[in-house]
Amino acid sequence: MDDVLKQINALREELNLHNYNYYVLDKPTVTDFDFDQKLKQLEQLEQQHPMYYDENSPTQRVGGAITKNFETVAHQFRMYSLDNSYSKEDLLEWEKRVQKGLGDVAVTYTCELKYDGASISITYENGILKRAVTRGDGIQGDDVTNNIKTIKSVPIRLSGDYPDKFDIRGEIVLPFKGFEKMNQDLIEIGENPYSNPRNTASGSLKLQDSAEVARRPLECLLYTIVGEELPFTTQFEGLTKAREWGFKVPPNAQLAPDMEAVFEFIDYWDKHRQDLPYETDGVVVKVNSIDHQQELGYTSKSPRWAIAYKFKTEQAETILNTITYQVGRTGAITPVANLQAVQLAGTTVRRASLHNADQIEKLDIRERDSVYVEKGGEIIPKIVGVNFDLRPLDSVPTVYITHCPECQTELVRKESEVQHYCPNFYGCPPQIIGRIQHYISRKAMDIEGLGGETVALLVNNHLIENYADLYELRKEQVVHLERMADKSAENLINGIEKSKQVPFERVLYALGIRYVGETVAKKLANHYKTIEALSRATLMDLILVDEIGEKIAQSVVDFFENDINKSLIERLKNYGVQFEMQFKESTAISDRFSGMLFVVSGVFEKFSREELKQLIEDHGGKIGSSISAKTTYVVAGNNMGPAKLEKANKLKINILSEDDFIKLVQ
Ligand code: AMP
Ligand code: ZN
Repeated sequence: MDDVLKQINALREELNLHNYNYYVLDKPTVTDFDFDQKLKQLEQLEQQHPMYYDENSPTQRVGGAITKNFETVAHQFRMYSLDNSYSKEDLLEWEKRVQKGLGDVAVTYTCELKYDGASISITYENGILKRAVTRGDGIQGDDVTNNIKTIKSVPIRLSGDYPDKFDIRGEIVLPFKGFEKMNQDLIEIGENPYSNPRNTASGSLKLQDSAEVARRPLECLLYTIVGEELPFTTQFEGLTKAREWGFKVPPNAQLAPDMEAVFEFIDYWDKHRQDLPYETDGVVVKVNSIDHQQELGYTSKSPRWAIAYKFKTEQAETILNTITYQVGRTGAITPVANLQAVQLAGTTVRRASLHNADQIEKLDIRERDSVYVEKGGEIIPKIVGVNFDLRPLDSVPTVYITHCPECQTELVRKESEVQHYCPNFYGCPPQIIGRIQHYISRKAMDIEGLGGETVALLVNNHLIENYADLYELRKEQVVHLERMADKSAENLINGIEKSKQVPFERVLYALGIRYVGETVAKKLANHYKTIEALSRATLMDLILVDEIGEKIAQSVVDFFENDINKSLIERLKNYGVQFEMQFKESTAISDRFSGMLFVVSGVFEKFSREELKQLIEDHGGKIGSSISAKTTYVVAGNNMGPAKLEKANKLKINILSEDDFIKLVQ
């Protein structure tokens, strides 16, 4: 074996181990920085030696494969649902049925938590992940292998004495923390947040772009192995084995010698489930012995040897005093219920989200109503219903506001949207302040010495009206503000000065163009290189950029058509803010493609599109965004757009398949 391949294999093995330590055991043994360095090294080697491509390499975890239609496949072993129980009496009834079915033998149980996510069945053959299929109707489901492979706690290669072939089943979940962060990012770019972790997890499995799935902090918790010849005799032993082979199996499963112990497990977790990082909605009790399981068998829809016990969702009833309305950075209006303080799941609740006008109307929620409040995965509790018996006689239906509570402008609501908006973009105080707060935030310009509250102070004291004004601020102006001193004023001015070094891609994000989040800003900056080029892009141009849809494209066009924005950008440019990409040092390997212009389109099997582009540049070629007479080659993967294909044919430009291209490089 040649040295390069040896090195590649060693890196793959090492990175797989680090992934396992980090994502499965929660015990990293290297720093993130070291991990990233090693991954980059591997990426580079794989790029320089495409013949060593391996779909199971840790570099492939970032996704990139696009699935247009998910193939339907049959489960080799049916995926059953579970019978539910809601009380200990129900469980005792079930125990009687089990005992009756098995005769007079001692039965032990495995207790597990019931995770609330999307179920998945993953097939392994000879220790390699072969296929992952959603539950579907239990008989057949959708092949979502590409997406599941991006979840880092799912092993792609197993270790230990695993069976040749088996399916392992579990739940794809989105931890609360990751869910909140995704929502924060959405709110930041003016999108509607997701409603709950479970739906978001199951929606994620059906995304066409696996790179998007890779960005979501999904986890996979496994709890059942099915197969023909399995090396264990009890459910609990199966869990232990699965752990040994490299799977993430929840640590809280427990053996119970009798129903007494099962009840203890239930009582414990009913109290402590709030402390878990994921949503659980109950406990699953399983007869432990596999022989017993086989003897008991299945009803038409569920195993007789298992039962789910559902926790009661904690609810509180309280009075809704008033409904108020908040205005966000993008002008979105959020109605908020102000409640009479009430205890719920260990915390005092004073406010609940009402989401939007439709929600209020649907539940017929009114001021002074007695309402039921529930706490799901979200930080802010929600109102799930009204106790109509306690409604005051003189109660009147809620009339949603028609004008902005902050600037009195008439609200608008687009047909396709649930949210009302205040359209007074440049005159509505929370929007003005919110935009500047976004501009200075950590992921944007990250201005040291300036925080969100100071921004509000600066605006309210008429020292600034927009983010460009920041660069005109003088120390004498800010030193008199509340809680400012000589030193902090100086820090603030220095921080603003330093922000002129922030790279273009972050500046673009900082501008606060609706729907342009961090990732999209990076894409646009890499593609257009300068703000001039971006501001001249037409709707069609933009849509042809990878991953830019019509909604984003339209928002970008609108932003640059606006005169106020134009003059803000002009001013920022004059102050010295970065509006061009800094070109990184060349990593040229050869000049084979020098003078050639490539256009890359479609989806590839052996590379991600970014890798392919890098390879072209590494060999001295240039990448064009659209096909023109100057194009030397079009490298076409699967699903190349028909418009591009037609254009290439019309201009008689050489089209290379992925294999043609590899030959050309070598
Ligand atoms: P239900 O959807 O209410 O019929 O419940 C059955 C589903 O619970 C299964 O399809 C699994 O996706 C899910 N589940 C969650 N945790 C477990 C567990 N520990 N054991 C078995 N099933 C579980
Ligand atoms: Zn307003």
